[in-house]
Amino acid sequence: MTVTVADSFASAIAGIDDALRCQSRWGCERAAAWRLVLHPGCGAVLVCTGHRDAFVDPVVACVEEYGAVRCPYCRQVFVGSIEAMVTVKPL
Ligand SMILES: [Zn+2]
Ligand SMILES: [Zn+2]
Repeated sequence: MTVTVADSFASAIAGIDDALRCQSRWGCERAAAWRLVLHPGCGAVLVCTGHRDAFVDPVVACVEEYGAVRCPYCRQVFVGSIEAMVTVKPL
């Protein structure tokens, strides 16, 4: 089978589209705008602005109240600041 330029271009775009979809575990059809880079071992997740806030706001509140936060993915506890667990970067 011969793959035409148009076909490979379309599949490349489809791949990009998939990669940039919000990957929130709540399920989301919106485009991702942020990369949540988690601590080593938990990788990174792409999310839309709404789910960035839904993730970050409780983490910030938890750190302010308890001085530590538990990673929602691996349950590991991080002390001191949100940056110990996750760094938020724009895409
Ligand atoms: Zn989302
Ligand atoms: Zn983790």
